[in-house]
Amino acid sequence: MQHEIATPLADRSPTIVVVENLVKRFGGFTALNDVNLTVAKREKIVLCGPSGSGKSTLIRCINHIEKHDGGRIVVDGVELTDRMADINGVRSEVGMVFQSFNLFPHLSVVENCMLAPMKVRGLSRPEARERAMDLLRKVRIHSQADKYPAQLSGGQQQRVAIARALCMQPKIMLFDEPTSALDPEMVKEVLDTMVQLAAEGMTMVCVTHEMGFAREVADRVVFMDQGSIVEEADPETFFRAPRTQRAKGFLNQII
Ligand code: ADP
Ligand code: MG
Repeated sequence: MQHEIATPLADRSPTIVVVENLVKRFGGFTALNDVNLTVAKREKIVLCGPSGSGKSTLIRCINHIEKHDGGRIVVDGVELTDRMADINGVRSEVGMVFQSFNLFPHLSVVENCMLAPMKVRGLSRPEARERAMDLLRKVRIHSQADKYPAQLSGGQQQRVAIARALCMQPKIMLFDEPTSALDPEMVKEVLDTMVQLAAEGMTMVCVTHEMGFAREVADRVVFMDQGSIVEEADPETFFRAPRTQRAKGFLNQII
């Protein structure tokens, strides 16, 4: 006889992020204009488009680093608003990895990974250290745990940044051009880590122009231009037969 496993209702929701009619302005400039995007649990989305098209702004709005001016954003069942009491609660469910690593320079690698779980999740030092070491092992950098960020290569620092985000046990990971500041020989080690994460079922939104990664991992490629989503498709379709002239032009430039 099969028993149904009792899960809270919220955990059965098929979506983790809903963006509806999103508008973001900087002064008189509209950076995002009526953007709609739904991210399903375990889905991997690659977000691409020319520089200035609004990719970073979109994922920064999802993490509430930027406040939006119109429309709705719901993350894990909670709508993001100016008035929300628990923005840190929502933000801690969302892992973010930036182009420029953003590690704390005065903390060792393992301490970088321990800080937020202790402060936000209330883990004890030994618990936080154990979790940090587990995740540093997962990104194969545990042997460098007591070094400082400046003593590591860019690729190693970015893997630490990924481990640090994972230490919060996020429900979704947002990547903003995680390999574009790296020397070419270090790109693969970071992409391999991201591929592994994807294979384990993490929900991911990745801004990247690594089209090999997109083909291998993405369920959906979302192409933005001038603050709008212009086109979305599975990677095979997007690369083989982009519908819009703007996507064709973009692909011609990057491939
Ligand atoms: P992308 O990540 O696709 O390159 P961004 O989201 O960074 O694009 O930027 C989208 C547009 O919004 C650009 O024109 C950029 O100059 C503008 N922008 C982004 N952040 C700010 C800001 N803090 N103040 C003013 N304009 C901004
Ligand atoms: Mg950007």
